[in-house]
Amino acid sequence: MENIYGYTLEMLEEYLASIGEKKFKANQLYDWLYKKRVNSFDDMTNVGKATIQKLKEHFSLEKIEIVTKETGKDVSKYLFNLHDNNKIEAVLMYHDYGTSLCVSSQVGCNMSCSFCESGRLKKVRNLEAYEMVQELLLIEKYENVRISHIVLMGIGEPFDNYDNVMKFIDIVNCGKGIELGARHITVSTSGIVPKIKEFAKSDKQVNLAISLHASNDELRRKLMPIDKAYPLDTLMDAIKEYIGKTNRRVTFEYIMLDHVNDTKENALELVNLLKGMNCYVNLIPYNETSHIDFKKSSQERIMNFYDILKKNNINVTIRREFGSKVSAACGQLRANHEEAK
Ligand code: SF4
Repeated sequence: MENIYGYTLEMLEEYLASIGEKKFKANQLYDWLYKKRVNSFDDMTNVGKATIQKLKEHFSLEKIEIVTKETGKDVSKYLFNLHDNNKIEAVLMYHDYGTSLCVSSQVGCNMSCSFCESGRLKKVRNLEAYEMVQELLLIEKYENVRISHIVLMGIGEPFDNYDNVMKFIDIVNCGKGIELGARHITVSTSGIVPKIKEFAKSDKQVNLAISLHASNDELRRKLMPIDKAYPLDTLMDAIKEYIGKTNRRVTFEYIMLDHVNDTKENALELVNLLKGMNCYVNLIPYNETSHIDFKKSSQERIMNFYDILKKNNINVTIRREFGSKVSAACGQLRANHEEAK
């Protein structure tokens, strides 16, 4: 059986055509699933009995389960149990402009970034599109809110699960269903160059963020092993290609690690790397964890770094700190739930 929440509208149309049904019924199904949010095929009252029977034979409506919720100021972290008892987390943040959900895309992660608590658990498997869709559906129901923004920055490297992530984006973006605007969706990558190039050709209007975190290869290699496969010049070429094709602005995420990547020289190197590019830099105060030795840069060091970028005409913001009390901050998912292997 296939989980129907993993089907894009197009896939559903193709399926319906394959069983001799009219394609437009896919619109009706999307309406029941994502507008009316029913939990049973029997509740889809405008769909004929024979069609319902076929749907029941082919599809499941099975959901993942919320196990726990932790709450901090303007933030809630959810732990989910998957059908195979693997666990993932998602974080809901309340902003003045709406609510954003940080979605996990894998169980564990193979990228081994040295500052990341989430990546201490190696990848067990990719998430299916339906599991990502259900992170959103279940939290919306539980909180009784409409999520306005999605960031694919939870556990996992989204571009290491490219096809399912693209399917997920199509499903939540579809105008017949959840209808979350493409410009309200951000996919973040540690820098898998071939996938950045593929993404550039995909014609999706969603935002791209790059986890950069270093201003030169030597440093980046220490923090993010992916730099060995795709060093900065290769990465920057791919990003320029992406910007050239899409005309979209790219975000660079930069975690501020005390006396590691936050010096004046680092700031100037970063300016050199990014000058003239259609981008902005998001400086992220590091969330210290009990398992990893890095410390958070002082406010003064963050401000000095910020000022150098600003003076050199690089668009830059400092991310508001969310959820460090509930281990819901960037790079901390699953930190305390279960010891990473
Ligand atoms: S920062 Fe992201 S890509 Fe790196 S190990 Fe953590 S989850 Fe994986």
